[in-house]
Amino acid sequence: MGKPQIVILGAGYGGMITTVRLTKDLSAEEADITLVNKHNYHYQTTWLHEAAAGTIHHDRTRMLIKNVINNKRINFVQDSVRSVDRENKKVILKNGELDYDYLVLALGFESNTFGIKGLEEYAFAIRSVNTARRIREHIEYKFASYNNDPDAKESDLTIVVGGAGLSGIEFIGELVDRVPELCKEYDIDPAKVKIIDVEGLPIVLPPFERDLAEYAQKYLEDKGVVFRLGTFIKEATPDGVLVQKKDAEEMEEIKAGTVVWTGGVKANHIVADSGFATNRGKIQVNKDLRAPDDDHVFAVGDVAVFFPKEGERPYPPTAQIAVQEGETAAKNLTHLIKGEDTEPFVYKQRGTVASLGDKEGIGVVFDKKLKGKPAATMKKIIDDRYLLELGGVGLMLKKGKLKLL
Ligand code: FAD
Ligand code: NAD
Repeated sequence: MGKPQIVILGAGYGGMITTVRLTKDLSAEEADITLVNKHNYHYQTTWLHEAAAGTIHHDRTRMLIKNVINNKRINFVQDSVRSVDRENKKVILKNGELDYDYLVLALGFESNTFGIKGLEEYAFAIRSVNTARRIREHIEYKFASYNNDPDAKESDLTIVVGGAGLSGIEFIGELVDRVPELCKEYDIDPAKVKIIDVEGLPIVLPPFERDLAEYAQKYLEDKGVVFRLGTFIKEATPDGVLVQKKDAEEMEEIKAGTVVWTGGVKANHIVADSGFATNRGKIQVNKDLRAPDDDHVFAVGDVAVFFPKEGERPYPPTAQIAVQEGETAAKNLTHLIKGEDTEPFVYKQRGTVASLGDKEGIGVVFDKKLKGKPAATMKKIIDDRYLLELGGVGLMLKKGKLKLL
């Protein structure tokens, strides 16, 4: 019998950490490891709102995979995964097939539009380097055309954000830094620019304690952001959005040149399409992160859902969890290959921080509440910590944020 073939699908947080850890834990004699990703680069999804607003260049969010992994140990395949043929233990790619003994599913998230009319066609979503780049270019185009295009309207300078969860609020935090620069660059009166957030719930940032969420809301309102709370986006159109206040009968139109949907995420559709047992599209993994219906398959990150205890809420889809699941999946693969028992996933909750642009933020870290600059600095420390784990001091110094403080 040959060496076990481990195939990892997706080079996001979960897939990269699984790969890097496996190279350290298993020798070349013990297993062959293949990593598949549709691009030749890994990106920091947690920085995409910055690239989308244009406060950082999109190249800062990404790095070539070959520069991070051990190329002597890892067979990197740049291709698009189409499906998994579990019966024959094969992965079907756009340009071929791969056999596996053990599979790690780490294909990440997709934007969830909940079937709302027009969102796919007329709204942007912050999903990948390319979608973030498109948003930045679109906003810049709207500003650049305003004084040159005779048909330009003031509503072309309105940006509507759907949802006031962490993605929506962090994106708006970047926009309030960026819009004054754009106004200066394109000779636009800042009073003409509107940033409107539409959120179905009566509050912003539901995961946070109210004093922190209200701090964030007030900070953004003081910068001119308008919150339409208790109001749902019902449709996106070429001219903006149709919204409806809770209990109102009428819909209202908000005209906007840009609509960015941050109303929710779901697991990559490939998981459910490949016939895995799913809970709302995600694999409800066992304690050791294996699929309940397939002992040879692990799922990590946003394609997995982990319930700490029966009856409790599952962990939310975050990079923090994807990284820790990647560490456990790598350990458990090593255990299986060495003929040992697997270990349960134990999540170490270190806290949550939301940035509000470069210098502001809110958060809770090890049960301590942070507001303002300390929160913004903590967010950068968290970002850099990941780079350190992924690629050591060299990667942290090259790509990290703290050196810019
Ligand atoms: P992903 O990071 O989505 O990676 C999936 C990988 O699979 C990608 O490289 C993708 O290109 C690849 N892929 C997808 N489909 C295919 C295919 N068919 N074939 C081949 N490759 C494929 N979480 C936090 O903890 N902290 C934060 O500060 C934070 N900020 C965020 C900010 C924004 C704007 C967003 C949108 C999310 C944020 N999150 C944050 C959530 C976090 O980004 C996700 O939970 C995390 O990215 C999930 O990691 P993952 O490894 O499961 O998948
Ligand atoms: P989310 O699901 O957390 O928030 C979506 C928001 O959109 C909710 O408040 C919801 O009420 C609202 N919404 C849904 N439908 C709507 C409609 N029709 N009209 C108006 N509002 C509507 O999604 P997200 O913010 O993209 O976050 C996804 C995951 O990524 C979460 O687990 C989050 O914790 C994580 N994340 C973490 C960070 C961080 O740690 N700094 C940053 C971004 C995202």
